[in-house]
Amino acid sequence: MRQTCRLILKEQFHLELLKTRRAYGLTQMEMAALLLMDPRSYLELDHGSSLAGTLTFVLYLLSLCPDPAAFLEAVRASLPEDLPRLPAGSVPRRPPAGLPVSEILVRPDGCAFPVCPRCETPLEREYQAFCDRCGQALLWRDYPHGAAVRRVR
Ligand SMILES: [Zn+2]
Repeated sequence: MRQTCRLILKEQFHLELLKTRRAYGLTQMEMAALLLMDPRSYLELDHGSSLAGTLTFVLYLLSLCPDPAAFLEAVRASLPEDLPRLPAGSVPRRPPAGLPVSEILVRPDGCAFPVCPRCETPLEREYQAFCDRCGQALLWRDYPHGAAVRRVR
């Protein structure tokens, strides 16, 4: 499957480069310079004998391609239909909303602990991502300067 995709992309990109080069009236040397690549390497792309690397592909899309969306849609349409895909309706997971740690508990012996903003339990370590006890996601951006100090006797 991967090899099939490589061959299809190589052919699609080769045809796209030819079309773009002719549309702008550019030489192979000028295309190579615009894509920041060695002219001999560009010739291999231009002749369809090698597949572009990621940098060349991105540079092409960003600086030369007249219609990146149309080009990518043409590539998508030419790839096999049974490519692995996420199930329909999938949405990216969001990280749990964090609460800012805004309190420091100072014991009589001088030891200080940040306090969980949800369950108010002293936390074992500073800058831990979640509370050990209640699982609350913690935000540390204002800690320790914005935190209130509470002393216990
Ligand atoms: Zn907690």
